[in-house]
Amino acid sequence: MAGLLRRKRLKCDACGDVITAAPAGHGTLLKLRGDNVEHEETPLCERCAHAIGMTALFRFAEEEEEG
Ligand SMILES: [Zn+2]
Repeated sequence: MAGLLRRKRLKCDACGDVITAAPAGHGTLLKLRGDNVEHEETPLCERCAHAIGMTALFRFAEEEEEG
């Protein structure tokens, strides 16, 4: 894991900014492949991690209302 981080410069998956410190958060992408669900974690800068977290919350709330 540490080797991977050292070899590849970490970029925010949302805006493309280079993350110099540890990533503030991870987005989790769910991919459906046949019967398998794959989780793919993506590094996010602090701003995007916050923005995407809020978006996820709003979406969740909307789904709850429609439910
Ligand atoms: Zn970002």
